[in-house]
Amino acid sequence: MKHFNRRKFCKLLGFSAVQLSVAGLLSSCSKGTSARVVIVGGGFGGATCAKYLLRFDSSLQITLVEPSEKYMTCPFSNMVITGVQAPDSISHGYSAQQQRGVEVIHAKVQAVDATVKMVALDNGEVIHYDKLVLSPGIDFKWDAVEGMSARDAELIPHAWRAGRQTSILRDQLKSMDDGGVVVVAPPENPYRCPPGPYERVSLIAHYLRQHKPKTKILVLDAKDSFSKQALFQQGWDELYPGMVEWVSGSKGGRIDEVDVTTRTLHTESGDKHKADVINLIPPQKAGEVAITSGFSNEDGWCPVDQRTFESEIHKDVYIIGDACIAGKMPKSGFAANSQGKVCAAAIVSSLWGEDMPEPSYVNTCYSLLSPEYGISVAAVYRYDENRGIYKTGGGVSPVDADASYRLQEARYARGWYDSITMDAFG
Ligand SMILES: Cc1cc2nc3c(=O)[nH]c(=O)nc-3n(C[C@H](O)[C@H](O)[C@H](O)COP(=O)(O)OP(=O)(O)OC[C@H]3O[C@@H](n4cnc5c(N)ncnc54)[C@H](O)[C@@H]3O)c2cc1C
Repeated sequence: MKHFNRRKFCKLLGFSAVQLSVAGLLSSCSKGTSARVVIVGGGFGGATCAKYLLRFDSSLQITLVEPSEKYMTCPFSNMVITGVQAPDSISHGYSAQQQRGVEVIHAKVQAVDATVKMVALDNGEVIHYDKLVLSPGIDFKWDAVEGMSARDAELIPHAWRAGRQTSILRDQLKSMDDGGVVVVAPPENPYRCPPGPYERVSLIAHYLRQHKPKTKILVLDAKDSFSKQALFQQGWDELYPGMVEWVSGSKGGRIDEVDVTTRTLHTESGDKHKADVINLIPPQKAGEVAITSGFSNEDGWCPVDQRTFESEIHKDVYIIGDACIAGKMPKSGFAANSQGKVCAAAIVSSLWGEDMPEPSYVNTCYSLLSPEYGISVAAVYRYDENRGIYKTGGGVSPVDADASYRLQEARYARGWYDSITMDAFG
């Protein structure tokens, strides 16, 4: 945790105390009286939390800090990578938030000092908060694979945050020759969207089957099993016979070195794989601002009270979405959305000095194996003091379903996307 007194914080940022006051340093909170909540990150977690905070208490002053004017979702980005959808179809702005009274600042938070309740932005502004919500998503552990650095993501894109990387990967797939090799390398747990790499494999296969049918996809996995594995492998055999080879971590899938210039991967088992396109998804950690501001543990994730999402490290700071440790919940957009609502209720209850209602949480992850072939996993969760967030029920698509069932699930996936993006950004 970085500690600043007010004067030091100003000096560090080149600001005067007067500017701090202007930024709202002296705001105060009491029941129903315009407490200031600053939210860092306008993705699924942050955008949802902003909306529900105002829904629960319309007197709050909500400031959402997000660098991008348009947020591109990772859900359905695999459809963009494979050319089925345009980038615009998964991009969302913040006008609805602004219309409901959320102050949206397009900037990056550089530092948080929780001892004096201030955040410093890269545009020079300093903002005081009564409550702070961090939903900065993920960052990457670049030192986990030898030879790989953030710079190399231009050459071997991870595309694990949607945007420019999504287009780079799409362009590489488009320009490769037929008959080559695409390597997809999913990381060790925990990471954003457990079934995401395998949906990507499926949709890349869908694209290749149509445009470059002699190409192979090699999945070099750091793990020995993965989410919805039986369903994915059944779908690959059915839809893309002979095209996808999955190598588990213990059987040679673990990569320990990459030569970016020759696009060659070296595995722990001593094998060498040369590829035309490499999609190496690095191991992950909480978004950088959560780490540099001192809210993470030694593994790079943020411990929270899983009932309220208040940081275990600092009071009045709440961390939601992929960055936090949320018991049995996966790191997904739906989970972040669900946590955003619980967190909003926790903050409002705390400001009102009331007990928070007993929370329940939910997650559903749809995956597309082709635009007409969907599978899903769903779960509901509760909180218990000893267990944290635990699963109370759920289900997964049946293995023996027919084509019309899979088509129906693909349609539900689109319905899910429309409703969750409306909930978070509409
Ligand atoms: C390929 C793929 C497919 C996926 N498919 C699904 C799916 O089908 N269903 C599903 O539920 N989930 C899916 N996910 C997972 C989902 O995208 C994430 O779990 C979700 O985005 C997490 O929400 P978040 O709010 O924690 O982070 P994000 O949505 O990443 O939002 C974080 C925001 O914080 C901002 N930010 C970061 N640092 C700062 C800073 N210092 N200052 C200000 N702002 C900052 C970023 O710009 C970003 O907009 C998928 C992920 C991938 C990669």
